[in-house]
Amino acid sequence: MMGGNGFKGGRGGFLTEEEKQNSPKITLRLLKRMFSYLVPYWKQLIVSVLAIIISSVFGVFPTILTGRIIDEGLLEQNLPVLIRLIGLSFGVLILANLISVLESYTNVWMAENITFDMRNKMYSHLQRMSHRFFTTSKQGDIITRMTSDIGGVQSVLTGTWTSILQNFATLTVALVTMYTKSPLLATIGIVVVPLFILPTKRVGKRRWEITLESRKHNDDINQILNETLSLSGQLLSKLFVTENYEFDRYQEANKQMIRLNIKESMAGKWFRVVINVFTNIGPMLIYLVGGILIIEYGNTDLTIGDITVMVALLGRMYGPVNSLLNIQVDMIRSMALFDRIFEYFDLPVEIDNDPQALRPESFAGELAFEEVSFHYDPDQPILNNVSFELKPGSSVAIVGPSGAGKSTIINLIPRLYDVTGGRILLDGVDIRKLDLAFLRQHIGVVTQDTYLFNGTIRENLLYAKPDATQAEIEQACSEANIHAFISGLPKGYDTVVGNRGMKLSGGEKQRLSIARIILRKPGLIIFDEATSSLDSISEHAIQEAIEPILAKSTSLIIAHRLSTILSADEILVLEKGKIVERGDHETLVKKGGIYTMLYNTQMKQT
Ligand code: ATP
Repeated sequence: MMGGNGFKGGRGGFLTEEEKQNSPKITLRLLKRMFSYLVPYWKQLIVSVLAIIISSVFGVFPTILTGRIIDEGLLEQNLPVLIRLIGLSFGVLILANLISVLESYTNVWMAENITFDMRNKMYSHLQRMSHRFFTTSKQGDIITRMTSDIGGVQSVLTGTWTSILQNFATLTVALVTMYTKSPLLATIGIVVVPLFILPTKRVGKRRWEITLESRKHNDDINQILNETLSLSGQLLSKLFVTENYEFDRYQEANKQMIRLNIKESMAGKWFRVVINVFTNIGPMLIYLVGGILIIEYGNTDLTIGDITVMVALLGRMYGPVNSLLNIQVDMIRSMALFDRIFEYFDLPVEIDNDPQALRPESFAGELAFEEVSFHYDPDQPILNNVSFELKPGSSVAIVGPSGAGKSTIINLIPRLYDVTGGRILLDGVDIRKLDLAFLRQHIGVVTQDTYLFNGTIRENLLYAKPDATQAEIEQACSEANIHAFISGLPKGYDTVVGNRGMKLSGGEKQRLSIARIILRKPGLIIFDEATSSLDSISEHAIQEAIEPILAKSTSLIIAHRLSTILSADEILVLEKGKIVERGDHETLVKKGGIYTMLYNTQMKQT
């Protein structure tokens, strides 16, 4: 965080420690991969490169023409030639600028299209990422790669690489012209360039170091302010009478900051002195040696115009030379950007469609777990040899203490994760052999945490079946016991539900998500019954919605409510990833095991 403590300075042509540590290895493979994104746009690339070169060359041309303006126009006092040359110079300048418009357009077009391709590729790749990836990755990191990293590529293409090419072209033209006019003067002029560049680099580096140091102190100051001027910090320092100590600490940090700010400003002053001196040495030397050549040695090849052009060209070289010296830093930054993007592209797709995936004609909904084992982390087994069957039209309830692995069982069925041992069969086929979309289309999952997006009730329902008619929607909502509520709203089905459905109550959200599943008519329904306590009216409404569904469909329920459990055909008791008891309610209660305990402690209350 930067506060109002006079922190100054930017990244400049130097890398931060973090950038240095994270700088990728520049390999041929990485380069090839970067350029592979340009290949589809090779025509635009050629136009853009040519336009950059031509506009840079034309941009230097008027400077070169100055020589002829002086020699042929002014010194020879020839007005028509003078006007012609000025006109030519002006024309070339206009042309150079027109070409640079073309160059900007092609470049922006190309960069936008490349980032468009990259964003799409990244989005569809991320869509294929497993549930594990989204549970483990930081949300912010995913968004950053999608937005600013790919956005950064765009500025690399339109900014960094363009300016490298431009500077290179300008420098080449300037050098060739200077050497053609006078190799001696050119060499003298160029020898001075490092004299100017090297101190600039050194001073720049020193400023950068001070900036880093000052950034650190600035953070320290902010830290002190946050700690001591906050409500609790103030209270603490008052009660412990540490005001003086805190003041001294703040003053000390502030002193350091001031010292650094002065240092940084002075480094800037010296910097300017250095620039002024060295930028003038080059031209002076050219004038001196040029003058000696003409005056003392009567050199007739060299004209006043030539000398003027040399001085002007030398002045134009500093900028490009300086930027080209930063090439390494620019390269590392661009590579790091691409590297971060490629890192995501290279993430393997954990749950993928089998190349010979099956899409059976029909779906009966017979589910079987055969000695299924599973772990999220290899050293922490979650499920251990879980076997059960769910016949079409019947229902199975899973109960067990918190953390037993109930939700995990559910996650395995739509293949949010793949089993690590055993197999899961649907209608006798291993679910890993089934087409993923087919599998997921035929399973309806009502999760504990109901997710509704910020849209209308109708839009949220249509997400399950985009072509559903109003009659179908209303039918599903009636079955889910929510139609009467929706009809009573001023805007009915067009009511906006708010972020994550926050404008609805917990019970309403659950019933809406049940309606969403009914609309979908899946062959197998999976309920993760919410544990959140609802009032008895909401409970009742949900119960009324669930029971008929359970009665007529094939369903697997993680049950917390006694009434749901009672309507199941079989109850599985899960503990520490193992099925420890199974049977119907009566048998299990009599057994006096875990089920009896769960029944006495939890279910009786609900
Ligand atoms: P509850 O009734 O509280 O929802 P549950 O029986 O559904 O519990 P699960 O959610 O299946 O339990 O979790 C089983 C175990 O797996 C827990 O110990 C949990 O910490 C662990 N676990 C769940 N999800 C992950 C994950 N994504 N990565 C690592 N461990 C996980």
